Amino acid sequence: MFGSFYRRLPAALTCVVGACAMAAQAADSGADLAANPFARPSTLPFQLPPFARIHDADYAPAFAAGMDAQLKEVAAISKDPAPPSFENTVLALERSGALLTRVNKVFRNLNAADGNPAMRQLEQELAPKLAAHRDSIRLDAPLFARVDDLHQRRAQLGLDAESAQLLERTYIEFVRAGAMLGDKDKARLREINAQLASASTRFRQNVLKATQDAAVPVADVADLDGMSPADISAAAAAAQARGIKDRYLITLSNTTVQPALTALTSRALRERIFKASATRATSGASDNLPVIAEIMRLRAERAHLLGYATPADYVLQDETAGTPAAVKRLLGQIAPVAMAAARREATQIQHLIDLQASAAHRESFTLQPWDWAFYAEQVRKDRYSFDETAVRPYFELDRVLNDGVFYAAHELYGLSFAERKDLHGYREDVRVFEVRDADGTPLGLFLADYFARDNKQGGAWMNTYVDQSEFFGTHPVVSNNLNIARPAAGQPVLLGFSEVTTLFHEFGHALHGLMSKVHYASLSGTNVPRDFAEYPSQYNEMWAREPVVLAHFARHYQNGDPMPKSLFDKVLAAQSFNEGFETSSYVAAAMLDQSWHQLGSGRLPDADGVEAFEAAALKEAGMDFAPVPVRYHSPYFLHIYVHGYDAGYYAYLWSEVLARDTGKWFHTHGGISRANGDYLRAKILSRGRTLDPGQLFEEFYGGPPDGEPLLEYRGLK
Ligand SMILES: [Zn+2]
Repeated sequence: MFGSFYRRLPAALTCVVGACAMAAQAADSGADLAANPFARPSTLPFQLPPFARIHDADYAPAFAAGMDAQLKEVAAISKDPAPPSFENTVLALERSGALLTRVNKVFRNLNAADGNPAMRQLEQELAPKLAAHRDSIRLDAPLFARVDDLHQRRAQLGLDAESAQLLERTYIEFVRAGAMLGDKDKARLREINAQLASASTRFRQNVLKATQDAAVPVADVADLDGMSPADISAAAAAAQARGIKDRYLITLSNTTVQPALTALTSRALRERIFKASATRATSGASDNLPVIAEIMRLRAERAHLLGYATPADYVLQDETAGTPAAVKRLLGQIAPVAMAAARREATQIQHLIDLQASAAHRESFTLQPWDWAFYAEQVRKDRYSFDETAVRPYFELDRVLNDGVFYAAHELYGLSFAERKDLHGYREDVRVFEVRDADGTPLGLFLADYFARDNKQGGAWMNTYVDQSEFFGTHPVVSNNLNIARPAAGQPVLLGFSEVTTLFHEFGHALHGLMSKVHYASLSGTNVPRDFAEYPSQYNEMWAREPVVLAHFARHYQNGDPMPKSLFDKVLAAQSFNEGFETSSYVAAAMLDQSWHQLGSGRLPDADGVEAFEAAALKEAGMDFAPVPVRYHSPYFLHIYVHGYDAGYYAYLWSEVLARDTGKWFHTHGGISRANGDYLRAKILSRGRTLDPGQLFEEFYGGPPDGEPLLEYRGLK
C-alpha cells in the first residue's frame, strides 16, 4: 500500500515558460514537426494518443517545440498592452503549453510503463531544462504583476466559484515559486534551486552506487538455505553479471529491511545483509551525510527566503494538512498504538525464538532487526495457515475486474464499461475500455496495463493521458498499471488477495480521474495535494473485502463455486498480521522526515552530526525500538531527498485517515448503494481541486477527520 507508486504531472506544466536553450533547437526542428504525432491534438476518440505513430525520435523535438511554443504564448500574455483580465491572463495561461502537456504526458507514462534506455537518457537531459522552464515563467515579473493585479481585484471580477479558485491557485503557485521576491532574492533562489537539483541528483546517484556496492557476496550455497530455487539462481546470475568470484550475490532493495531476510535460515548471513543495508551511503565515495547537510541547509535557506520559519511550514501550507502541528497530531495519534502493536508482535516472536532454542537445546537470543522478518513469517504460517494456492483460484483476473472492480463502480455510481477492441494501447496487451455514465453518456477511456514486463517500472500506479476539462472540451483518458506475473500461455491469471486489493486501489485513482466534472484541467481529477491524492484510492480498496462485493467476484474460475467464508476469514486475518511492525516502521520514517524539515536554519547539523540527529529524532518520537528499524535511514531516504516527498512522507497516512473515515461513513449509511455512491461522487470524486480539499472532506463527512477508523481497519486496536 505504501509502496504503490502514484504520480501527478506537475500542474505547473500548463502554465510554464521561460527562455531556455531548448528554444533554439526548436527553431531548427520546427520544420520537421508537421509530421510529429504530438504536433496537434489526437483525432482518435477521446483524444487517445496515436500510440502506433509515436516513435522515440519524436519526443525530443516535440519537447523543444512545446517549450518554445509556450514561451511565445506566455510572452504574448506578459506583453499584452491591454490591461489584465481573467481571460487575457489566467485563462490564457491555462490554455498555454498544450503541445508540451501532450508530449510530456505520453513520454512520462510510456517511460514508466514501456520504457527503454534512450527514453531514460532523455528523461535525465530534460529534468533540469523543464525545471528551468518552470522557474523562469514563475519568476517573470511583468507576468506576475498581471496575476497579482487580478488577485487584488478578485472580489470585483464577478468570477464564478471555480474561476475564482483558478485565479487563487495560479496566484499561489507564482507566490510559492518566489514571484514576490526582489531581484536579488530571486537570483539567490535560482541559485538555490540549481544547487538543490544537482545535490538531489548526487544523492540519488550515491544511493544507487552505495546500494550496488553493499550487495552481499556469498561463497557457499549452503548459506542460502531457506531461499527458493528461483531466488538462488537470481543470486548466482547477479554474481555472474558483476564478474565477481563469489558464486552468489544478494542484491539490495530500497528499504532498510531486505526481502531475503524472510527466508534465510543463517542468522549470521541475515545480520550481514541487514547491516550492509542499514549503513548504506554513510562513508566513502558515495557518502550522503554531507549531501544531506547541504540539502537541508539549502532548503532551510529557501524557506526563510520565501518567508517561512522552516521547510515543513513552506511545504505543508499547500497540503491538506496545512501545518506541521496538524501532521504532528496525526502521527502522534497513530505512533503509540502502532508501537504497542509492534511490541506485542515482538513478544510473540521472542516466544517462538525461545521455544525453538529450548527444543534444540541451545541458548536463546534476543530478537534483533535481522531476525524479525524470518520469525514473523513462521508465526504467520503458524497462525493464519492457509494455502495460497487454495485462495488464488477464486481470484481470476477477469472475474475480479468485471465482477468486482467494475461491478462495485456500477453499484455505487451507475458506471458501465465496454471494451473498445477498435482502439489500441501502446502494446497489444493494454486493454482499452470506454466508460459510460448511468444515463449512457460517455465519460472517458480507461486503459488497463496489468502485466509485468522487463521494461516496466515496478509497483502499481495510475496516470492520465488526457485530463477532464469542460473548458477544453476534453474527456479523461486514464490508465492503471500493475505488475502481475503473466502465466504460461493458456493458463488462467490467478491473483493473490494483495493483488486484488491493488487492482481496487489503482482503480480508485482512475475513478477520481474519470468522474471529474470540472471546468479547468489544472483543477481537475487527481490534480490535488499529495496528502489528498491517495484518499480515493485507499477508500476504493474497502470494496475488495466488502462481503457483498466479494461474494460477487470471489468465485472459483473452473466451477463458479463461491469462496468458503472460513477461507476468506483467514485471508483477512492475515492482512492485519505484522501491521504493528509495518505501520511503526512507516510512521518512524514519516516522523524522521518531519524532524528534518521542521528544523530552522540555525539548528542544522553538519555532515558529522547527521546520524546523531536522526537517532535523537527517532528517540524523541518514541520510535527507537531496535527490532523495528525505520523504513528508510536518512542516507537512502529517496522519497524526501529526491522524489518530492520532503515534509510529505506522511501523506499516505493522512489520505488513509480520510479513506477509512469514508469507509465508516458508508457503513453507518447502509453500505454500498447508488445513493451513497452518488453522494461521495458529488462531494469528492467529481470535484478535483475546485475547493480546498480539507473543506471538500468536511462537507462530505460532516466534520473533521478522525483517526480511529484507520486503527480499526488496520487491526491495530
Ligand atoms: Zn495510490
